[in-house]
Amino acid sequence: MNKQEQAADFQIEKVSREFETFDVMGGSSRWDIKVHEHGMVALVDVMPRLVPIGMTADFAIVQAARVSYGDGTKRVEEDRGLIRYLARHRHTTPFEMVEFKFHHIMPIFVARQWIRHRTANVNEYSARYSVVKDRFFRPSEDSLRQQSTTNRQGGDQQLDSLTTEEFYRYLDSVEAHYKDYEALLNKGVARELARIGLPLNVYTEWYWKIDLHNLLHFLSLRMDPHAQKEIRDYANAMFALIQPIVPIAAEAFLDYNLHSMRLSRLEIDALRTGQPLATKNQRELSEWAAKKTQLGQVDS
Ligand SMILES: Cc1cc2nc3c(=O)[nH]c(=O)nc-3n(C[C@H](O)[C@H](O)[C@H](O)COP(=O)(O)OP(=O)(O)OC[C@H]3O[C@@H](n4cnc5c(N)ncnc54)[C@H](O)[C@@H]3O)c2cc1C
Repeated sequence: MNKQEQAADFQIEKVSREFETFDVMGGSSRWDIKVHEHGMVALVDVMPRLVPIGMTADFAIVQAARVSYGDGTKRVEEDRGLIRYLARHRHTTPFEMVEFKFHHIMPIFVARQWIRHRTANVNEYSARYSVVKDRFFRPSEDSLRQQSTTNRQGGDQQLDSLTTEEFYRYLDSVEAHYKDYEALLNKGVARELARIGLPLNVYTEWYWKIDLHNLLHFLSLRMDPHAQKEIRDYANAMFALIQPIVPIAAEAFLDYNLHSMRLSRLEIDALRTGQPLATKNQRELSEWAAKKTQLGQVDS
């Protein structure tokens, strides 16, 4: 028996939907948000794309969870309670039943941070195959920051006007090399070699597909104030795109993840006893001071 004959042996039963559906993207082929001057976050597809009328893609989380918890009532308020319970208790697999496909255009220094997240499927623009476009990221003046004195990985106060000018001159000079790149391509240098002198603020693009659980993990790290502002701008745009698609899961994410706080055993002891934190580690002490401020507790 050949393979085709084998396949013909299966009887496929096509079950019609029990409910009227609508498209969670409202019939659009993509939802775009511009980020900075040249960047973009576009939502290009969602699974589930079709959901029962009156529901959102949160539906797929509840549907999967009910396999483990049994058929509950179908009332939206109870679906909300179930999703929030799952989020609080880190019962994560039902969140993997929703998937998003994005098209991103971002500077290479942002892509470098982004690609560290290993749970997405990625297909990137090839600078071996195609010519890198003449697009460079330029921070706006109000986002030019000085090196932070307290956080080695961050910047805080705005640059003075003289240093601002110098910074833009520095970008002008590296971006001017784009002409050399073009000239070398015209002389027949391979694209894969000509590109190696381009600066990190040149743009790349990719298709990026991820499930909701792993997307929320990405967003919890990259919407956090500790993340670099430029990748945070992209993460915030992605959150704005998924919020109307999975509003209940998005709200639970804000409540139980992004705006929540983890307390260590030492911190719980300090709260319970009113004693100082039992450590001499300066970083841990300053993190505790920040948490206490957030909790509205001020040291006397
Ligand atoms: C503010 C900030 C500063 C950072 N600074 C640095 C830095 O200085 N240097 C640096 O190198 N990186 C740095 N990173 C990157 C960071 O260390 C992580 O690599 C990145 O955030 C991806 O996190 P992740 O591994 O949890 O995410 P993902 O790759 O999306 O993985 C999600 C989860 O899947 C699981 N997982 C995925 N792959 C594996 C695996 N192979 N084995 C086991 N578990 C796996 C883990 O539980 C992981 O948390 C920084 C990140 C942030 C947010």
